[in-house]
Parts: sequence; structure tokens; C-alpha cells
Amino acid sequence: MNATILVIEDEASIRTVTRAYLEQAGFRVLLAVSGLEGLEVAQRDRPDLVVLDLNLPGMDGMEVAARLRQESDIYILMLTARSDESDRVAGLRIGADDYLSKPFSPRELVARVQAILRRRRSAPPVDAVLRFAHVRIDPDRREVRAAERLIDLTTTEFDVLLALARHHGRVLNREQILDLVWGDDFYGTDRVVDVYVGQVRRKLEAATGTQLIQTVRGVGYKFVDER
Ligand code: CA
Repeated sequence: MNATILVIEDEASIRTVTRAYLEQAGFRVLLAVSGLEGLEVAQRDRPDLVVLDLNLPGMDGMEVAARLRQESDIYILMLTARSDESDRVAGLRIGADDYLSKPFSPRELVARVQAILRRRRSAPPVDAVLRFAHVRIDPDRREVRAAERLIDLTTTEFDVLLALARHHGRVLNREQILDLVWGDDFYGTDRVVDVYVGQVRRKLEAATGTQLIQTVRGVGYKFVDER
């Protein structure tokens, strides 16, 4: 079954070109010209991935992403006008899975979309639950619980936690984490690892009152909960 991609973009020329390339690659494409319309379409048609322009009139892309994230763990590819690092980090912080700076080549956009969806497909189908003193991680259901309370993680945050937890007690460097989570499909920098680890750490700490991920200065990160 072909994946459905929702493109939320106010510039008509970008919508048209993006749709043409995605359709040519075999995707079903839905279009929205504003954040509000995008949210409606997402709710109604449940696309697999959203290509989301950061700079939209009215409700901006950040808010749209935050609302999408409240309702589902849909994949988000963010389009940013500036190549500014703070913009990209902000995009990742609200849970985008990848970002692309304008102007971009439509071929590149298709490649990124395919890469994100490939990550999903390559996830192993059945996997043992990892039980630790403070958290229980269920790779199959993609759930993390502290006591019985569910901890709300985005798709990529979950993958980062899983990579660290599977190597608990051992230090993973940034490159290893990039490899385990993003594989060969990664286009960004090591900095992304720090952003995601920071987010996961904050959420785990809020839920458990404990620091479960340690920074090993100059090396990387280590998940330290007891089994
Ligand atoms: Ca725009």
C-alpha cells in the first residue's frame, strides 16, 4: 500500500511541484494551504507523513506540529526558510523527524520522505520488553512507562531511548546513536543527537525523578537504570 503524504504549504508553486514529484514517486498526496486546514485534513484522512512549512500565515508550522503531535505520532518533515541552526533545532524540538531548508530540490524532498518511511518499515516486528528499575520499555507497542504511567515521547525520541536502553550501562558516542536511530539516511549533524537525548532525559526525569541518561564528557551518553 502506498503511503499518504500531506503537504501543508501556503506557496502555490511549492505545493504544485512537491505534489508532482511525490505522486511520480508513487505516493498519494493531500494538500493544505494553511495550518488549520492541514490539521483538519490530518484528522480526517490520517496521512502517514506531513511535509510542513514552518512559515505559514495564521497558525505557524511550530504550532501545527505541536497539535499534530498531541494527537498522533505521525511523521513530520519540516520545511524551513532559513538555514539558521536555531530554527532547525526548534523544529526538531517540537518533534519533527527531519527538516529541509528552502530552497530545496524536489528530488531531495522525495528522498527524505522515503528515508523517513523506510526507518519505520525497518523496525523489527516483535521485540522483548525491556524492564528496568524505573522504566519499562515496550519496543513492540512503542510505549515507555514509569510505574504504570505512560511517558509521552515522539517517534524519534522513543528510538533514541531504545538505542541507549538496549546498550544500558555502556557508553554510546554520538555517531553510534546516529547510526542506530537514523541509519544511513541521516543528513544533519551530531548536534541533533544532543537535542534528542536532552529531550528524552528531561521527560524521563520528570516522570521518574531520576537521571537515567548520563553524559560522559567528550564521549557520549549512557543509560544507567538498573535491570
Ligand atoms: Ca510559507
